[in-house]
Amino acid sequence: MIKSSLVSLWVILFLLGPTLGQQVRCDCQPALRHLCRCGVLIEQDVAEIQLAYLNRLMLAEFRDFLKESPVTTIRLAPAHKMVLKGESAQGYYDSDEQEMVINDSLQRDQALMVMAHELGHAWHFQVQPDPDAISDFLAEGFAEWVSYHLIKRTGLVEFCSKIKTNPDPLYGNGFRWYFQVEQKFGTEAVINIMRSWTDLEGGRVP
Ligand SMILES: [Zn+2]
Ligand SMILES: [Zn+2]
Repeated sequence: MIKSSLVSLWVILFLLGPTLGQQVRCDCQPALRHLCRCGVLIEQDVAEIQLAYLNRLMLAEFRDFLKESPVTTIRLAPAHKMVLKGESAQGYYDSDEQEMVINDSLQRDQALMVMAHELGHAWHFQVQPDPDAISDFLAEGFAEWVSYHLIKRTGLVEFCSKIKTNPDPLYGNGFRWYFQVEQKFGTEAVINIMRSWTDLEGGRVP
């Protein structure tokens, strides 16, 4: 969802597991905390490690199109400070502060997913700073498409299938629209659409 200078992710409720609020402990090796799936809530230090990790994946995956990462700063915020238009967001990219903000009630693996999605928005926003010019479908679809490629590199493959099969008309259909463009015409075609907001025949995408 896009509003004025904020590009935000509203809902990925399918990620929210039943362990919220329970006492859980992490059995992961310290070096693998960024991929932790033990149900532990996100903390600032792990969030920073995760964002740095995703940024490395981002530059590897899109090295032909991206010279530096669009956002390297992250901040956690409590759920009640994440309410945008009456809904609680899991994360958003704040273009004024040039930082990513994520909900501190997320578990570590959920936070990783949200960050991957918001990296897509941040990239998009730097190229196309007028959010009103971008349809929600194209914005959320692109963010999910970026997220899919980053998460694929992490090896959390079931998250990739969730992105692919998400029934949501914005997130799911938006992703699948970009994905079929990629399958037919390649990665560059997707990036060109994101950059130019024109379709493959040169018309403006609604
Ligand atoms: Zn979003
Ligand atoms: Zn763990």
